[in-house]
Amino acid sequence: MICYHNVMVDVTHAFSAQHHFDNEKFNEGKKLITDGMDKTINDMKNGKFDDAREALGEILHTLQDFYSHSNWIELKNTKPYSELIDPNKKLTNLAEKSEETCVELCRKGSCGAEFRKDLKVLTSGYFELLPVNKPKGKCSHGGISDSTTGLGKSWDGINKDYKESNNGHGVLHNTASNLATDATVQLLENIWKKTDNSKFLRLVGLHEEEPAGAWRTSLHFILLTSRYPDANKPDEMGTME
Ligand SMILES: [Zn+2]
Repeated sequence: MICYHNVMVDVTHAFSAQHHFDNEKFNEGKKLITDGMDKTINDMKNGKFDDAREALGEILHTLQDFYSHSNWIELKNTKPYSELIDPNKKLTNLAEKSEETCVELCRKGSCGAEFRKDLKVLTSGYFELLPVNKPKGKCSHGGISDSTTGLGKSWDGINKDYKESNNGHGVLHNTASNLATDATVQLLENIWKKTDNSKFLRLVGLHEEEPAGAWRTSLHFILLTSRYPDANKPDEMGTME
């Protein structure tokens, strides 16, 4: 369920920039994450675990997108940006709205955006449906559904969504993916600390209570096989219910 709601963000909020950390919506994306963490924890405390899983899946999408859609990796960071999950810390080093972050570069007939060589601030690619309002000098997300790229402008952008992503950024896909995994663990640990073992295990489907029937059946099965050696023969093992 958590994965389902994560994936669905690309359908239900396809053109909401903050849900994907597009268009330099860093503070807006962070607010979605921290508000969603509060909601997840409150739902857990009120026993609404399905609602908690939905909220958690959605914010994990946004958190994970940060590492693919921003230049956090290209700025040579090797740890998650933990300020994204801390409501008490401010995001710093963000590019100004008027600051040019990418230059158009044409190579072998393909023109795409490339980071300015001296870029030290945090930026992300623009992703828009028509009409295009990408400010001059900003980077594109890239891909066929991104109108800020397209015919005559190439399909290039800075996303690292796939290894095959254009413009040289796809080679950083695994690095981005690994850091997104670390950031996910950090967020889950944060929720765990703010609740308790029993609620956290239940959130991820590992109940501490004995689920009806299942454990009793398997325990019975183990006792049977140890007391009656013949039952260890493969054709007499039976199946676990
Ligand atoms: Zn996304």
